[in-house]
Amino acid sequence: MRIGIIGAGQLGRMLALSGIPLGLEFLMYDRSADVPGAAVAPVVTGEFDDLAALRKFARRVDVITFDWENVPVASVRALAGIAPAWPPPRALEVAQDRLAEKRLFARLGIPVAPHAAVDSLASLRRAVRRIGLPGILKTRRLGYDGKGQVRVTSEDELAAALAALGGRGLIYEGFVRFTREVSLVAARGQDGAIAFYPLAENVHDAGILAVTRAPRPAPRLQRLAEWHLRRILERLGYVGVLCVEFFVSGNQLIANEMAPRVHNSGHWTIEGAETSQFENHVRALAGLPLGSTRARGAAGMVNFIGRMPEAAAVLSLEGVHFHDYGKSPRPGRKLGHATVLAPTAAARDRRLKRLLALAVRASQVARGPFR
Ligand code: AMP
Repeated sequence: MRIGIIGAGQLGRMLALSGIPLGLEFLMYDRSADVPGAAVAPVVTGEFDDLAALRKFARRVDVITFDWENVPVASVRALAGIAPAWPPPRALEVAQDRLAEKRLFARLGIPVAPHAAVDSLASLRRAVRRIGLPGILKTRRLGYDGKGQVRVTSEDELAAALAALGGRGLIYEGFVRFTREVSLVAARGQDGAIAFYPLAENVHDAGILAVTRAPRPAPRLQRLAEWHLRRILERLGYVGVLCVEFFVSGNQLIANEMAPRVHNSGHWTIEGAETSQFENHVRALAGLPLGSTRARGAAGMVNFIGRMPEAAAVLSLEGVHFHDYGKSPRPGRKLGHATVLAPTAAARDRRLKRLLALAVRASQVARGPFR
């Protein structure tokens, strides 16, 4: 069976790396051949809205998925008669619009931050009056890794924040005073079986995921998060991996956003779980049974952003697994990650501290996101 992946970034690459041992083949599609996925599978190049090129690509594969959530929904829908596409295009459509996403969550009874659509200064003022300050103004579409959002703390900042984000197609959200951020990754098979990973705790730095620790044992929150994801997966007739990020506030989970794909906060599962998120995604696509999501000890993942640390320094740490995506360095760009494993959470945290010191030194960011 050949799996077609639209987008050949590091996620596409890790999908292929997990599926090749299962006897699966991969073909990727991206705008350029100079992409992380090219190291492990052939890449067809074309624009993401070039339907003729995408149809030709689809005829060469048995099933289609994507590693990037800003692939045009119309492009994925146009391939429907040629090869099945999973996750369903509707999931992609919802995830591309922060307002649609919040509406879906709310309809399913999943708590979300107070929010309002903003298309003008007048609507922003109304939103702020109703929701209060501080808050975050975000673009509804095409935002990722903290891009396309501005924190506002006073009325005086509204006009500038609005202008910085283009003035329309925005959403204003009340600032959630969370104690921590967690995410839940789940996979749903074609037979409707669902496998949930343990909750992961995430620390962001300037809107970009910096550190994940998992599992984050919290039985009540785990049950609650599973309940929420089950509702989304079933409502969307979902196949593949889904990740939802939550704020923890008191004993409540407030959904922030969902990713209809494998997710950075699930990278720890490559070595830290019995079956990785990548393998479970390709298993679901191929109609194979899902694998165990059980954690193997305690895992900590650190992203390398902007600059890679020395491989030799990272590899000298105990229990470490190093991933270099082969990308050229650029400020704010995710270039790789490493995961440390340990038998206990305390030992994991000690190893994680050392790993984080290397990452921080490499990126020359003085403030460490480790808390
Ligand atoms: P996002 O792009 O929505 O994932 O936002 C990136 C990060 O910004 C989140 O992981 C949070 O750390 C922070 N953030 C986003 N929205 C809110 C909010 N409504 N309240 C508090 N923090 C937020």
